[in-house]
Amino acid sequence: MSRIAFIGLGHMGSPMALNLLKAGHELVVFDLVPAAVKALTDAGAQSAPDARAAVAGADVAITMLPASRHVEGLYLGDTDLLAHIAPTTLVIECSTIAAESARKVAQAAAERGIRMIDAPVSGGTAGAAAGTLTFIVGGEAEALEAARPYLEKMGKNIFHAGSAGAGQLAKICNNMLLGILMAGTAEALALGVANGLDPKVLSDIISKSSGRNWATELYNPWPGVMEQAPASKGYAGGFGVDLMLKDLGLAAEAALHARASTPLGELARNLYSLHSAAGNGPLDFSSILGLYKK
Ligand code: NAD
Repeated sequence: MSRIAFIGLGHMGSPMALNLLKAGHELVVFDLVPAAVKALTDAGAQSAPDARAAVAGADVAITMLPASRHVEGLYLGDTDLLAHIAPTTLVIECSTIAAESARKVAQAAAERGIRMIDAPVSGGTAGAAAGTLTFIVGGEAEALEAARPYLEKMGKNIFHAGSAGAGQLAKICNNMLLGILMAGTAEALALGVANGLDPKVLSDIISKSSGRNWATELYNPWPGVMEQAPASKGYAGGFGVDLMLKDLGLAAEAALHARASTPLGELARNLYSLHSAAGNGPLDFSSILGLYKK
């Protein structure tokens, strides 16, 4: 069994770390929020006083932080964590951040002889708890193989998207499409209902027709159509509007970087931005229906 440093024990990091603990690994954890640490130490993990102490002697270091600035700040900024990580430690960075940031940190790690992969996830908090996340990995194939036994304890599907930063890019492409298709589904349902159709009947028709998609099949935005969907629970839980907005912002940054055109992604970003500004940031992103519903 390995000694694993786990830094960032939020909505996603905490259940992911618990799955590694359940698999029998020795966990040394750190988070800026003491309550987040306590949940893990109660379950048998050791706590470290800071991030540098957490990675000391670790076989593997995993980070799950909010955004690019936190990741760059930790590895390259004030904490300068890379200077405290041994070349024998494998680094698995799971946060969703800009591909440019992922490349920058991976490059600095490589210069120190440290193996590092970007491994953002899809599957949300339910997938993190169930150990069924999808990992979308960027980096050397050899580093991914070294990480695989650990990723398999936290997820079900593991993809190698390409070199450093590619995991982030693939994840952003997926989430941009998700944002667009959810807004489009909400728009189509609202159009039908405004013209007298029943939302459940219309959803059933679309689910068996050419407009079918992940939202109509598993995550319908109309309240009451799907009992288990956030829409039927006051849009509580699920994937927040502000998280979707963050990912659409990352897609816009990637588009600027590559001089690519993403007109629908930009439109979706503006829709979610308006929706968030109206106070809906913490609600599930399928609440975008509120922009269309009469
Ligand atoms: P979160 O805000 O719940 O957790 C982040 C944790 O990092 C917090 O506990 C915070 O205290 C800690 N932290 C921040 N800076 C730190 C530092 N310097 N040292 C130690 N700890 C630090 O966020 P989350 O929902 O767990 O998401 C984490 C990442 O996963 C994000 O990049 C998010 O986009 C991505 N993600 C989230 C979901 C989701 O459904 N929540 C799904 C897929 C991907």
